[in-house]
Amino acid sequence: TPSGASFGIDDLPVRDELRGKSPYGAPQLDVPVRLNTNENPYPLPEPLVERIAERVREAARRLNRYPDRDAVELRSELAAYLTKTGGHVVGVENVWAANGSNEVIQQLLQTFAGPGRTAIGFEPSYSMHALIARGTGTGWISGPREADFTIDRAAAVAAVTEHAPHVVFVTTPNNPTGNAVPAGTVLALYEAAQAARAATGGAMVVVDEAYVEFSHGQSLLPLLEGRPNLVVSRTMSKAFGAAGLRLGYLAAHPAVVDAVQLVRLPYHLSAVTQATALAALEHTDTLLGYVEQLKTERDRLVGELRALGFEVTESDANFVQFGRFDGAQGSHEAWRRILDRGVLVRDNGVPGWLRVTAGTPAENDAFLDAVRELPRDVP
Ligand code: PMP
Repeated sequence: TPSGASFGIDDLPVRDELRGKSPYGAPQLDVPVRLNTNENPYPLPEPLVERIAERVREAARRLNRYPDRDAVELRSELAAYLTKTGGHVVGVENVWAANGSNEVIQQLLQTFAGPGRTAIGFEPSYSMHALIARGTGTGWISGPREADFTIDRAAAVAAVTEHAPHVVFVTTPNNPTGNAVPAGTVLALYEAAQAARAATGGAMVVVDEAYVEFSHGQSLLPLLEGRPNLVVSRTMSKAFGAAGLRLGYLAAHPAVVDAVQLVRLPYHLSAVTQATALAALEHTDTLLGYVEQLKTERDRLVGELRALGFEVTESDANFVQFGRFDGAQGSHEAWRRILDRGVLVRDNGVPGWLRVTAGTPAENDAFLDAVRELPRDVP
């Protein structure tokens, strides 16, 4: 019976492509040191907490009304932030915001992909791209990545040319590997994607820059110039230390901003979310100061892990991929041993490798202490 304990998902008329699948599920375990979801370890500074309270109090007085559906003030401030830091002039008409960059990505796939269409990503990469593709009925194509986790330009272009996807994802810096993708590769993919779908209006190329503030290099925002089918997606979850806020955004040609409004739910960004994000943006300089500290700690993790004899993938993000362990079993065993020492890192299912988020100096020390004892497969 529907109320019985034996009644489950498979007894419901769920869509065929969802049968037997698992939801996205990074473990949320209660351990002393959590370095598994690329969060910022620094709580928001107290003056910002006060400012959020103030702005939310103001918003609360108007909660009987729907929020600004177009989030104009917030989008202008995000545009100002991108213009100041991204090497490219961005206006409010170029920016769209949603509940986390996951929602931005979902809106992009709802708009430009969906049933009968396809998207490609170069894996291993951010697993939600494929999951959101599935959720939107978009066919998923797993594009190639080299053994050292770089993208081979010719191989990637060949995959795009062969499959002619409607959406191409390029995550840079990439998650979970940490390395950045050269601008030249993104340009080559853009050209190939447009050529492959020339007869049907081209393809969208989505550059996922969730971690770009931690990069040694520059944002790819300047590539937007003259490329209306390019989208750069960003988030306040990492650099702004506000994963709990759920605020992601994109920069693109104004036509793209118009297009995603065809699928966005009306009033999708609550007045509380808009008020909180605006408060956080007032404190950008302080928050970017934490980013500098985290970059230093990230570089320290890379250096110390290498000194311990681990292989480490070049990182432009706030996390580091390290190994090499003896296959999938070896990395899972290492994950468990590190957890036994009270430190939660991430096993992304990349055989032989684990990912650790840069935490506070003390958290990183706890992590390094835990890994010193690990067995590993030195090639
Ligand atoms: N893109 C990448 C590459 C990510 O790693 C993440 C979060 N882990 C996101 C997007 C989504 O972040 P959010 O929805 O919190 O903005």
